[in-house]
Amino acid sequence: MKRDDQSGLALGGNKVRKLEYLVGDALDQQADTLVSGGAAQSNHCRQTAAAAAMTGLACHLALGGEAPDHLEGNLLLDAFFNAKIHWCGDQRKGETIPDICRALVKEGKKPYVIPYGGSNATGALGFVDAMTELKLQRATCHSSLSHIVFASSSGGTHAGLLVGASVNEMDVDIIGIGIDKEEMEGVALDQYILNLANEAASRKGVEKTITSDNVSLVMDYVGGGYGVVGHLEKEALQLTASLEGILLDPVYTGRAMGGLIDLIRNGRLESSHNVLFWHTGGTPALFAYGESLLR
Ligand SMILES: *Cc1c(COP(=O)(O)O)cnc(C)c1O
Repeated sequence: MKRDDQSGLALGGNKVRKLEYLVGDALDQQADTLVSGGAAQSNHCRQTAAAAAMTGLACHLALGGEAPDHLEGNLLLDAFFNAKIHWCGDQRKGETIPDICRALVKEGKKPYVIPYGGSNATGALGFVDAMTELKLQRATCHSSLSHIVFASSSGGTHAGLLVGASVNEMDVDIIGIGIDKEEMEGVALDQYILNLANEAASRKGVEKTITSDNVSLVMDYVGGGYGVVGHLEKEALQLTASLEGILLDPVYTGRAMGGLIDLIRNGRLESSHNVLFWHTGGTPALFAYGESLLR
């Protein structure tokens, strides 16, 4: 298991790797305010708010839903980082960011937009580095690596891992477990990942193009949709906690681990394979899903 849940910024998670590049770009452009959006329990938004606090920037977040009576999980942490929350009803993918930016510019602010999930080519570069890091770490262990399995949702992690594998000449099957049935910006997720990967690859000066054969995305485990906890997630959470002492989250890593367990049960992955589960974080969301996890 690769533990990006331990990546260090405000309870960790995979967005830290993207934010390293995105916030770097914001500072280069002398922005004073980060603007992003997502679901109410967005891990990405919590990490963005923390990164803003750390670098002395303001942070505005467009979150799906209505203001709740109690702040829990990621939302509680957003408040600690002084993020300004804009409640956006059924728009949970940052659709209202342009309006927020217009208002900020009117106030004389210099906003920098971080797209949904931090998934543009700049953000994806963080996961190209992540594969270089993995390659270095693997040099110290003596087993081969055949597959990487992880939660894939807005495409940046997936795209970066593909480019990172190419840059580092790592021959490994990268299998994303789809988390959300909706497409990204009107494009099917696998196509979005492919476009993003090739954009990031050209930024890295990689000549080999990434083709649709390289994009392995399993959409069989989306269940009731984004953030709807079912038996798959609950079982994976329980097993991983009780057998390994490791916490997963209800939305992403619980679903991805549930998918991995099913791929093993149905024989697509077998004992001759050496599988790495990339833990992408999400732990704070556990505390907002207590009821549905125990039911
Ligand atoms: C955002 C997120 C993902 C998905 O990463 P993408 O780059 O959006 O595909 C996976 N796990 C957790 C915990 C996340 O917060």
